[in-house]
Amino acid sequence: MIGGIGAVAAPDVCSRAGCRETAAWRIDWQNPRIHTGDRWKTWLACDDHIEYLRGFLEARSFPVRVAPFEPESIDAAAERDA
Ligand SMILES: [Zn+2]
Repeated sequence: MIGGIGAVAAPDVCSRAGCRETAAWRIDWQNPRIHTGDRWKTWLACDDHIEYLRGFLEARSFPVRVAPFEPESIDAAAERDA
């Protein structure tokens, strides 16, 4: 593996643990107990895991927004977080 913990070598890979597929979807979500205002987390998902990841969040009654993944928008968000 190139990089290591914290390295963003492949920012367009599915967020499901162990999955190396290129993301086709983005999932923006909030945990109302720890996220306030406009602070949203973003996960990425491939076609195989979009339903799993969305279901995981919806089972906890978190607000979830799903949209087709556009790499440019993630790059901009990652720079703000770093
Ligand atoms: Zn996946």
